[in-house]
Amino acid sequence: MLSYQQARELVVSRLMEISREPQTESVPLLNSPSRILASDILSDRDYPPFDRSIRDGYAVRAEDTRPGARLRCIGEIRAGEAPSFTVSAGTCVQIMTGAPLPEGADAVVMVEHTSRDGDSVQVDRAVGPGQHVVRRGSEQKAGGTILAAGTRFGFAELAVAAQVGAANLAVTRKPRIAILTTGDEVVDFASAPGPFQIRNSNSVSLAAQVSLCSAEPVLLGNATDSLDDLREKISAGLEADMLILSGGVSMGKYDLVEPVLREFGADFIFDAVAIRPGKPVVFATCNGKPFDAQGKPFEPQSKPVFGLPGNPVSTMVTFDLFVRPAIEILSGELEVRPLPFFEAELTIALSEKPGLTHFLPAKLGWPGDLARVAPIPWQGSGDVVAMAQANCLLVVPAERERIEAGERVRVLPRGIW
Ligand code: AMP
Ligand code: MG
Repeated sequence: MLSYQQARELVVSRLMEISREPQTESVPLLNSPSRILASDILSDRDYPPFDRSIRDGYAVRAEDTRPGARLRCIGEIRAGEAPSFTVSAGTCVQIMTGAPLPEGADAVVMVEHTSRDGDSVQVDRAVGPGQHVVRRGSEQKAGGTILAAGTRFGFAELAVAAQVGAANLAVTRKPRIAILTTGDEVVDFASAPGPFQIRNSNSVSLAAQVSLCSAEPVLLGNATDSLDDLREKISAGLEADMLILSGGVSMGKYDLVEPVLREFGADFIFDAVAIRPGKPVVFATCNGKPFDAQGKPFEPQSKPVFGLPGNPVSTMVTFDLFVRPAIEILSGELEVRPLPFFEAELTIALSEKPGLTHFLPAKLGWPGDLARVAPIPWQGSGDVVAMAQANCLLVVPAERERIEAGERVRVLPRGIW
């Protein structure tokens, strides 16, 4: 059986093969957090655009700044002003943070390292050439690429776009991700379930996970465990850029997702991964819609489809492990983000059945600055309450049967990836 790393690699390589250049749209800068840049942004000018003081103090010739030296202050330059002075031997100009360095000066002495009496400034500390000055163009050269196509906009990237005046950004269109849950027992979350029915929580969590990837969820509701209903709704789902199903992929008599996908030309890339929760997870590519006049698909086996197990925690974990990288590629992201593992000390000994990599809902904290983690007691992959109490998944490697308290383990924080 595939390890989760192998399965992720298969998702990434298949998506690379089938994904085309995404369509683009223009959005205002302030509406673009988490969107993907569609074309390179170039620097409109040098940054900084002038030799910039990064301290409040005095613009000087560095060679004039022996401790105790006295310089004559010939004026002041505020941020935003033109530097209309020339510093010559024995003189200085008062300068503010962000102001341009005047002609003749090559450094700035911090105001804290001076004392002033009228226009006489005593320097208490020598500075070297270039000190407290950032040279024109040292951060960026005019015309250089400052953000590459495929970059996802976080706040720092947005600040870069703002710096060069990109008021509207060309971003990739959000991929449309169809979500179809399955199960005879599943009813809409807003309705009253019968005694043996359950409310549809997976369509809600999946829609949220899709939105958090900055993609567009398309909710198709729930299909009963019948061939006809599955055919009809899967067919509708294949019109989106990707289809995610939940439920109906295990060994039960009414787990019919795989046979129906086969009717849509499914090429199954995997239908099991050595993980718990989430082992029966399915990844396939089906024939894309629309079809031509002869009823042949224009793009055979080009549509990514995930069949996630129906247990809510399995659905969530398999989404984050396998679906997220696929959405990143469909969105035109430059690089698939790696799983952000880090290490923490286990505080309670663990015994798990070996053979599968376990992802256990767990609580991570930093008492006394040291990362420590403990699993949350849970009833298995249906226990969505335990998952909601967790702030990470604790990773138990497949070969480990017991991990002692005090050992270092890997965790995946929840909600930041
Ligand atoms: P399945 O993968 O179809 O065998 O479902 C496994 C378990 O997950 C069953 O107990 C289902 O009732 C539950 N389940 C399936 N679909 C959903 C859903 N959409 N929302 C909440 N629970 C579900
Ligand atoms: Mg089911």
